[in-house]
Amino acid sequence: MNPSFETLARMVDGARDAVAFTGAGISTECGIPDFRSPGGLWTKYRPIDFDTFMSSQAARREGLTRFLRIRAEVGEVGPGRGHRAIAGLVAAGKVSAVITQNIDNLHQASGIAPERIIELHGNGSYAHCLDCGTRHELDWVARWLAEEPERAPACTRCGGIVKTATISFGQAMPVEAMRRAQAMAESCDLMLAIGSSLQVYPAAGLPVLARRSGARLVIINREPTELDRLADLVINDDIGDVLDGFNVRGESAARITRSAL
Ligand code: NAD
Ligand code: ZN
Repeated sequence: MNPSFETLARMVDGARDAVAFTGAGISTECGIPDFRSPGGLWTKYRPIDFDTFMSSQAARREGLTRFLRIRAEVGEVGPGRGHRAIAGLVAAGKVSAVITQNIDNLHQASGIAPERIIELHGNGSYAHCLDCGTRHELDWVARWLAEEPERAPACTRCGGIVKTATISFGQAMPVEAMRRAQAMAESCDLMLAIGSSLQVYPAAGLPVLARRSGARLVIINREPTELDRLADLVINDDIGDVLDGFNVRGESAARITRSAL
């Protein structure tokens, strides 16, 4: 176990309102590469920016096709040790919410109620219409691309532009998610920044806001980040290894309960 785990656990236990802020690093052990570590997926199928996506039918087809390729290459994935540990802390009332930059739906898959998850960059497990908001499944998008030779998928309800429900580079941040995340950063007394290089703004501004508003800041990441100098505790280690300490604590408690029956 990481030698700093006891300090981390004490900080979490002593917090009035702890909030987790997660990035791609929490999902690498699940098989989804992050942007910076070697892997090549994101260079092979480089996501296209919002203006390019909007510029033509062909660009939209290309953007959606790349996304579906990434999805196919990643395959079926489930939550990792970090997701499970956070879900346990939420269930125990020790963490009130998760603000995530991830689009992989794995916090939801770990059992955290959707209202406690704030997605800053949207969700990549489905698509939606940019005009009327109607949800369209990715399998429907794939079928459209296979059957239609030229046109990009159009909304079945209003004919509008269909895009994965993610926030692309150059696309406006979701206003309501950002507002809620800022309010949480201002009111929490502990923020756990987990698996983010803390280089993508405005998301990375949230740990800064939390710190300036008086919260303690913990950064868990296997390499140094831009904001380490602001943190009260930095743990440079594997996220699953570190957070598994919480799973082990929970498991041992469950075992004691069972053996006492
Ligand atoms: P990032 O790629 O910039 O940073 C991830 C950080 O996590 C890196 O510093 C890396 O060293 C660290 N890391 C990776 N695996 C780790 C592990 N097992 N233990 C400890 N540290 C580990 O990611 P970001 O800060 O989230 O920003 C990239 C943007 O791209 C975000 O918008 C993000 O949502 C998006 N993205 C999302 C996914 C996803 O949904 N899973 C994957 C890739 C990129
Ligand atoms: Zn529509």
